[in-house]
Amino acid sequence: MIRDDIERVLIPSIEIKAKTKELGRRISEDFKGKDIVLVGILKGAVVFMADLMREIDAHVDIDFMEVSSYGSSTKSSGAVRILKDLDLDIEGKNVIIVEDIVDSGLTLNYLTKLLSSRCPACVKVCVLLDKPERRDVKVKIDYEGFRIPNEFVVGYGLDYDGKYRNLPDICILSPRIYKDL
Ligand code: 5GP
Repeated sequence: MIRDDIERVLIPSIEIKAKTKELGRRISEDFKGKDIVLVGILKGAVVFMADLMREIDAHVDIDFMEVSSYGSSTKSSGAVRILKDLDLDIEGKNVIIVEDIVDSGLTLNYLTKLLSSRCPACVKVCVLLDKPERRDVKVKIDYEGFRIPNEFVVGYGLDYDGKYRNLPDICILSPRIYKDL
């Protein structure tokens, strides 16, 4: 059972659902009558974005980017590399970057600057989880879900070594999982 690898649940799915609803409502109010392009950052943001988009009452198009991230380690490499760019032209569009977690801030700092350079109407950032203790570079977060302590989390789209994304809760992985490697 994959649950045996979990030390404890940090945020249960019921709280994630309520928070996603609240974020969707705020986005709907802020963008009343406007079209939105949600840019999900693969792969971690897929579950969050799928739920969030259904809570937004506006015309929403979606696209995805993939950037290099942790790989199988639990520490940031510091480097940001684009593995998949957008398919859509975002010039003149209202863009919201949807990310699972902000840690050092390097990924979002880089992506915000990159997408802003493509002349969109605006670029906003929506993040489910924020680890403020770990910030190296400043990031402006417009829509934030939960602030969490400096612990490595999995579930609800977040992985460790490609696993645990399908857990419905945000969980703290048992340290034995990465200590055994
Ligand atoms: P940043 O560039 O802000 O340091 O890192 C953002 C990325 O690091 C996230 O998209 C995510 O892939 C990864 N990351 C940071 N903290 C965690 C964590 O606690 N769990 C998992 N699974 N990934 C994390």
